[in-house]
Amino acid sequence: MTARILDGKVLSAQIKDEVTARVEALKAKGVIPGLAVILVGNNPASEIYVRNKGKGCEETGMLSRTVRLDEATTQEELEGQIEALNRDPEIHGILVQLPLPRHLDENAALAKILPEKDVDGFHLINAGHLMTGTEGVVPCTPKGALYMLRSTGEDLSGKEAVVIGRSNIVGKPMAMLLLQQNCTVTVCHSRTKDLAEHTRRADILVSAVGKAGFVTKDMVKPGAIVIDVGINRVDGKVCGDVDFESVSETAGWITPVPGGVGKMTIAMLLSNTVDAAERTLGK
Ligand code: NAD
Repeated sequence: MTARILDGKVLSAQIKDEVTARVEALKAKGVIPGLAVILVGNNPASEIYVRNKGKGCEETGMLSRTVRLDEATTQEELEGQIEALNRDPEIHGILVQLPLPRHLDENAALAKILPEKDVDGFHLINAGHLMTGTEGVVPCTPKGALYMLRSTGEDLSGKEAVVIGRSNIVGKPMAMLLLQQNCTVTVCHSRTKDLAEHTRRADILVSAVGKAGFVTKDMVKPGAIVIDVGINRVDGKVCGDVDFESVSETAGWITPVPGGVGKMTIAMLLSNTVDAAERTLGK
């Protein structure tokens, strides 16, 4: 079997088209959706992500602002910037680019963002909404991964889903979204015993580990939908967690890296920002 490709470029373009139309409609009502990204220090990977986010805003007609803070910024200064953006009516979405320098408290900073402007969906209020299945902001990467899964047209209900990774930004919210789709969900992590025994049962396998070549053909059930969230660099080249070539021979569907989930993350960020701008209309 040769897996069908879940193309992040095509799927993210669909979302961006929808976002562009919604931005136009908002502009007609006098609202320009605005996204602010706070970047502390000069981590090269973060620089690339922030640039891509700015590009996404430009393509869809949104306002984009980058707040650059020095590596030595204090917690107080960072939180002061967040509070200023909370008050700024031009800004509908605020994102603090992670990771922050080690001396800064990530959780304390994220908690300062107004939940309705928290377009990354990392605030405890939004995490609580996801946990309880009530309306809130859903983190962009798992939201994008779910969009890809749904684009297969397969009925997800009752499927065995295995998520590798239990981070707050990918693994855990992904598991919650899959539960909402009525999947039977297993979350695996670094202490899981006999990982392959779990993954081989998976109709849906999501890998969010951060290790190149981690998921191999023998770990994948024939016909499974394989979503590769990992972003790794090997010899200067970007690749995922999944050994794409061999796993493509057995999976039913697979996401490439690059050109997979990463593209969806940015599209969902734009979508979450338009949602936030639309919510201000009724106020
Ligand atoms: P993380 O380091 O917080 O989490 C990694 C998880 O992998 C942990 O929960 C850990 O338990 C698990 N793990 C580690 N070794 C394992 C092993 N041997 N067996 C089973 N599980 C193991 O990372 P994260 O922030 O969740 O990101 C994961 C990957 O996804 C990274 O490569 C990251 O760059 C990528 N990522 C991609 C996007 C995107 O837009 N595509 C967004 C966020 C993160």
